[in-house]
Amino acid sequence: MCGIVAYVGHREACPIVIKGLKRLEYRGYDSAGVALMNGSLDVYKKKGKVSELEAFIADKDTHATIGMGHTRWATHGEPNDANAHPHYSTSRNIAIIHNGIIENYATLKKHLISKGHTFQSETDSEVFINLIEDIRLDSKCTLVEAVRLALHEVVGAYAIVVLAKDAPNQLIAARKGSPLVLGIGQGEYFLASDATPIIEYTSDVVYLKDHEIAMIHDGELEIRSREDVKQTPYVQRLEMALEQIEKGGYEHFMLKEIYEQPRSILDSMRGRMVVESNQLIMSGLREFENKFVNADRIIIVACGTSWHAGLVAEYLIEDLARVPVEVEYASEFRYRNPIISERDIVIAISQSGETADTLAAIELAKSKGATIFGICNVVGSSIARATDAGAYTHAGPEIGVASTKAFTAQVTVLTLIAMIVGSKRGTLETTKLRQLMVELENIPAKVEQILKLDEEIEKISAQYKDATNFIYLGRGYNYPVALEGALKLKEISYIHAEGYPAAEMKHGPIALIDEHMPVVVIATKDSSYEKVVSNLQEVRARKGKVIAIVTEGDTTIPSMADHVIEVPETSEHLAPLLSVIPLQLLSYHIAVMRGCNVDQPRNLAKSVTVE
Ligand code: GLU
Repeated sequence: MCGIVAYVGHREACPIVIKGLKRLEYRGYDSAGVALMNGSLDVYKKKGKVSELEAFIADKDTHATIGMGHTRWATHGEPNDANAHPHYSTSRNIAIIHNGIIENYATLKKHLISKGHTFQSETDSEVFINLIEDIRLDSKCTLVEAVRLALHEVVGAYAIVVLAKDAPNQLIAARKGSPLVLGIGQGEYFLASDATPIIEYTSDVVYLKDHEIAMIHDGELEIRSREDVKQTPYVQRLEMALEQIEKGGYEHFMLKEIYEQPRSILDSMRGRMVVESNQLIMSGLREFENKFVNADRIIIVACGTSWHAGLVAEYLIEDLARVPVEVEYASEFRYRNPIISERDIVIAISQSGETADTLAAIELAKSKGATIFGICNVVGSSIARATDAGAYTHAGPEIGVASTKAFTAQVTVLTLIAMIVGSKRGTLETTKLRQLMVELENIPAKVEQILKLDEEIEKISAQYKDATNFIYLGRGYNYPVALEGALKLKEISYIHAEGYPAAEMKHGPIALIDEHMPVVVIATKDSSYEKVVSNLQEVRARKGKVIAIVTEGDTTIPSMADHVIEVPETSEHLAPLLSVIPLQLLSYHIAVMRGCNVDQPRNLAKSVTVE
């Protein structure tokens, strides 16, 4: 969380930084600020969105060719002007932008106060810049040396950029745990939390590694380790097009991303499945195929929507490959002394590839000797680099904070993994495998078909936009979809929603059902269809309003439900890829009708780089 951008070169820095911050706003939008250097080191910052900062600086002299900016997701101190970044040091000679958390900030702050430093904010970040200043004054060293020494003192996660008044051509950056990409242009450099602010200027990037410090001085770049050893930067070419990160005529990124799913699902299986020759190829898996085949257990670690994709994978892998699977919240797993052995495989799922809890879970599992396989969307992300092997989802940049296309892409990749491991282990017969491959190949077209129901779903949404609660029910493969549908609604419309396995309803939630309770029942034709129909009847008997997601041509449910949304028939293994689409649209329309900010829901941010 928190987005950071910096620029040094021959162009005006401010417009580049502001535009970059807008692209990074999905990472946090509590406040925004810039520091610009033109003789003096000027900081402008404001509570609220980047647009508010933009209005605030409109009449200021922002001319500068070196500058940095920050969009905040508050961790330490409420969202207000004072806690907004950048932060000056006590002398105001240096300034910092920071993404992450300094865990030992309280001790450091006490010590710094005793040495005469003063603080204007409640943030941990301001402690960081004062620590750098303190070291610089005490050791009479260069700024970059002070930064390096400070990195040995701070505990926690950071991506930082530091500017100094007395070094008008210098920009210093460092990272540990939080992402930082460096763009290299013609005599100019860019720094950002992800590549989106950089893409329109250059495709040559370096993903900084943990404990690396980058210094750009008089147009020269130097990267050193925290131990002060010179590093050779590994310059990569970005494969991302500008249109991918723009709205392209849609009102919201979320809607655009929902509509991109036929394509993103296809991209996630492209080159990995050749139906004609019955072939499944996943290069990241090949080297570890034997480990997967002989694994005692697969542990899936993830958070939020990715955790729901993990639950779908549990059903898929256990059924098709007959390997026991456990799905864990990364945040719980990392702190509970789990039993992990060298014969375990850990699959870590994260859209951004930066999720702090998932990263920590990976490190823990690694230390116990497990093989780690990553499933991420963002190329070059920390998780992609921390794992032994992995597969990218190829969903393209996901900017809406509520995840949609990343979920279906994750489920697609996990389905392929289950099929590959199942066929290698001999638990998935060739005819069944072939059937599944054909079904999977048809999924994008079926998603396309569901998207045509958008208007119908919008009408249903209008009837429930003022609801205060929602229940989502599903069984089997559709149980995780019920959880995901409820999460989507909570996230963007702020309506309280619960997802439940349909049969669990009678053990508690049924008490909530009355004529005011909308209940979304996912009742597609699968092995638990009859049971779900009974659960639906139980809701009806208590006058709950039923919105049913059914398989095309269902003649039983329409007479029992208030609303019916039909999805095309498919194998039950692939049902989540279809049944989740109407739920995404339902939550989208309800949120829009309630006047909520769909792409940037309150209190949330994408890419959760704090624990
Ligand atoms: N800890 C810093 C703050 O609260 C940065 C937060 C973040 O990166 O999410 O301002």
